[in-house]
Amino acid sequence: MRVAVIGAGPAGLMAAEVLSAAGRAVTVYDRMPSVARKLLIAGRGGLNLTHSEPFERFVSRFGAAGPQLRPILEAFPPDALVKWAESLGQPTFVGSSGRVFPKAMKASPLVRAWLARLSAQGVVIKTRHEWQGWDERDNLVFAHNGKTAQVTADVTILALGGASWPRLGSTGTWVDILRARGVAVTPLRPANCGFTVAWSETFRDRFEGTPLKNIALSFHGETVRGEALITRAGIEGGAVYALSSALRSALDHTGHATLMVDLRPDLSHADLLAKLARPRGSETVANFLRKTLALAPVAVNLLREAHDKDLHLDPPTLARHIKGAPIVLTGTAPIDRAISTAGGVALDAVDMNLMLKAMPNVYAVGEMLDWEAPTGGYLLQATFATAVAAARALLSAANHSAL
Ligand SMILES: Cc1cc2nc3c(=O)[nH]c(=O)nc-3n(C[C@H](O)[C@H](O)[C@H](O)COP(=O)(O)OP(=O)(O)OC[C@H]3O[C@@H](n4cnc5c(N)ncnc54)[C@H](O)[C@@H]3O)c2cc1C
Repeated sequence: MRVAVIGAGPAGLMAAEVLSAAGRAVTVYDRMPSVARKLLIAGRGGLNLTHSEPFERFVSRFGAAGPQLRPILEAFPPDALVKWAESLGQPTFVGSSGRVFPKAMKASPLVRAWLARLSAQGVVIKTRHEWQGWDERDNLVFAHNGKTAQVTADVTILALGGASWPRLGSTGTWVDILRARGVAVTPLRPANCGFTVAWSETFRDRFEGTPLKNIALSFHGETVRGEALITRAGIEGGAVYALSSALRSALDHTGHATLMVDLRPDLSHADLLAKLARPRGSETVANFLRKTLALAPVAVNLLREAHDKDLHLDPPTLARHIKGAPIVLTGTAPIDRAISTAGGVALDAVDMNLMLKAMPNVYAVGEMLDWEAPTGGYLLQATFATAVAAARALLSAANHSAL
């Protein structure tokens, strides 16, 4: 059985590991000069591999895709991923938020050990091979060193990723190729992404790149504590990402989304009132707010952006404004900077083993499938689990046939 895995990210490499461990000959192709570039970049943030929360809660993070992903995640749950990392010499720990990281807090040692294992299992990796589709005989077509190469495979596993951070290799060019073959693909959209805001020129010039720390963001009844970053074009960062699916949806459907910022979520309205009742004397408003409420200049100026250039100084109004500064979002930031991608191969275009219904013996795994989840380790867990599911199904199908 000749198996071609296209895409050497975590999904493709995991599929190759499972298949080669069962003695199958696997060749992995990737368009980039080296493998797993996005996984290595994810390592810069400590490499949040998975999450330790109860399984039911874990599955709920995948929203509409949850029911279809459930059996796949049950068959390769967070514990299995932790054991796998340990088997590569990468013990993990659970952070205060329940997120699971390798103790090394980076991806490179794991990737090194993984590639050594794959090589020992006979996996061949061909880089600088850009997949371009199939020819009229259903051979795989690759562009390699300025030439075209045809490859015959009995089974193909597509692990081509989404379209965020395209310079790391995943560009989403597969969408048109699969659609032309009758595979339903929902449009690729930014997920865990930032948003654009029409900041005033003064605010943008002064605060671009400045974090808003210890805030709470709210949208449509959901509140998230954390941090955000002011960008030239708008706002991004962990707390924004957590609400990004709902915000993107609202912008898509209504053209409007207003994010509410609580600049002092640890103080109640009454606490704020008590502090603001202190006489200000001759202090500037900015100084007064910094001293009494520890509000950084970016926070004070966000109040001016959100409410009024001239801050309302009566304590009840000011307290209300600090607990709820509206930021009107004008759009979703481009997919290039998003952490992940929503949309992809529709889940009803694959069978329960992730084989394309329109193309027997072609599987799709990882982020190129249409599911999304917040940050917190859910992305990598589902990426790995879908790859394991397809590879195991393929092995079992091969054992029952002549392949
Ligand atoms: C900055 C950043 C930080 C992140 N941090 C985390 C984190 O801490 N935890 C977490 O769970 N997730 C994180 N993610 C998300 C996670 O990295 C992705 O979900 C995961 O890499 C998806 O794996 P994949 O194998 O499906 O796709 P990818 O990793 O995108 O791999 C796809 C591969 O396919 C190749 N390819 C694409 N098109 C072609 C083609 N036509 N021909 C040949 N090869 C092709 C690409 O070169 C690439 O190597 C992060 C993402 C980013 C951008």
